[in-house]
Amino acid sequence: MAKDLLSIVIPSYNEQGNIEHTAEVVSKIMKDNRIPYELVFVNDGSKDETWDILTSLTRTDPNVVAVNFSRNFGKEAAIFAGLRTARGDAVVLMDCDLQHPPEVIVEMYNIWKYNDVDVVEGRKKDRGRESKVYKAFSLWFYKLINSSSGLDMSGASDFKLLDRSVVDSLNDMPERLTFFRAMSSWVGYKTEKVYFEVAERAAGESKWSVSSLIKYAVSSITSFTSAPLHIVTFCGVVTFLITLILGAHTLVNKILGNSAQGFSTVIILQLLMSSIIMFSLGIIGYYLSKIYEEIKKRPRFIIRNVVRNGREQNGEKDD
Ligand code: UDP
Ligand code: MG
Repeated sequence: MAKDLLSIVIPSYNEQGNIEHTAEVVSKIMKDNRIPYELVFVNDGSKDETWDILTSLTRTDPNVVAVNFSRNFGKEAAIFAGLRTARGDAVVLMDCDLQHPPEVIVEMYNIWKYNDVDVVEGRKKDRGRESKVYKAFSLWFYKLINSSSGLDMSGASDFKLLDRSVVDSLNDMPERLTFFRAMSSWVGYKTEKVYFEVAERAAGESKWSVSSLIKYAVSSITSFTSAPLHIVTFCGVVTFLITLILGAHTLVNKILGNSAQGFSTVIILQLLMSSIIMFSLGIIGYYLSKIYEEIKKRPRFIIRNVVRNGREQNGEKDD
């Protein structure tokens, strides 16, 4: 069986200024290189004209499939809905704003097609024009992920080509709280890397605010690793050692009859202990809330409708 159909999954949230241009640029590159392809746009509950532009695009371009969410579920959900809908022998994930250069897709495709490779991973050469704070933050973030999971995630991006077998493995993963970048490494398979420069956003604005990035980071870490829980244990051990030393010291003083007058030690200890306990409880609580969310078994997304060739179809369910 020839393996050649390529699905390009493009999560789109308020991208009215980008959709048509992106579809055009990507289509041209695919056609020029004679790659059979489909474009799977996932409209993540956009509040602008994105969906209208997409439906009219499906009427004129048979290669376009448009998936419509019932509301904004976030990029992760959009990626996983795209993976469900894609029919290709390989699937590429890319952003709608052309920050992932579409020429690289051809490179990824050829590596996949002519080699025994299941995943072709796009790695950022440099992090584009991101602020210093953001760079430092993401460096720290990936260090934590790297050391806690044993996966090398520095420079990782969502720009990836996945073989059908990998897509099926990801579709089989039951968890509700996903972290695509890490999960697509976690499944393993034979991986090749290509490097790309992050381009400037074509039109519109980035959808990330500082608070949404922090939320994303915390949720990614806790959904992927339990390292923070081990930090709690480590803190416990350290404070226990300190307590032993301080306790011995106090006891010796007491025996020698020069027991301290001040309550300062007591107060400091109290403060220290209660802050550590509260901090630990917070982390445990966070994981509890994650377990709670997983256990509810809510779908990761709800698809209102899917349009192919201008006609509506039933959407894939997230089971
Ligand atoms: N996106 C999405 N849902 C969201 C936020 C973003 O599907 O809730 C899409 C967005 O349309 C784009 C991609 O995710 O195709 C990356 O978003 P953005 O460019 O805002 O992120 P950045 O490049 O700044 O990291
Ligand atoms: Mg972007």
